[in-house]
Amino acid sequence: MSHALPGLPYATNALEPFIDAKTMEIHHGKHHAAYVTNANKALEGTRFADMPADQVIAHLSDLPEDKRNPVRNNLGGHINHSMFWKIMAPKGQGGGGEPSGDLLDALNASFGSVQAFRDQFHAAALARFGSGWVWLCVKPKQNKLALCHTANQDTPLMGESVAGCGGIPIMGLDVWEHAYYLNYQNRRPDYVMAWWNVVNWSEVAKNLRQARV
Ligand code: MN
Repeated sequence: MSHALPGLPYATNALEPFIDAKTMEIHHGKHHAAYVTNANKALEGTRFADMPADQVIAHLSDLPEDKRNPVRNNLGGHINHSMFWKIMAPKGQGGGGEPSGDLLDALNASFGSVQAFRDQFHAAALARFGSGWVWLCVKPKQNKLALCHTANQDTPLMGESVAGCGGIPIMGLDVWEHAYYLNYQNRRPDYVMAWWNVVNWSEVAKNLRQARV
């Protein structure tokens, strides 16, 4: 079993005008595809080739030394993007609006209000220098939500000691320039503001339920 590129759950132009079709085509069809190809190449012939991606990524130090960096970058990229496509949806068709139910309660309990959460998320997205991701995570032992950001394709699933941030991610925003440059050029703040229009809160809520099991 090797890792495979998941299909997009919507058309490449479905997130316009917030994320343009060309960006989606290249981001999914080229960038994500390359992470999958290179992750499979790195894992080929090792006993990790048939393991679920999240198990491999949580135990990078078990890998042969020459495999660690390629797997960290490429399997990390595969995991991160696989979640990213799913937590977005076209505006009005699951995208945008406001969180509700248990997710709303958890955001209020952890950040004080949804607006405070949005403000902190936005600040974290701008605080990440260069390429990386901003995350909303469940902190298992504390049973609360927390924000953090990671470099490159690191994920909180790698653990605090590797990624500088640990937990189970339930929502992540790609702030690599490849995610927004065609439409927004250097204007990362505009991209982050626009992104709220396509957040699929019910998918984030599903991730929260699964993280708590
Ligand atoms: Mn990306």
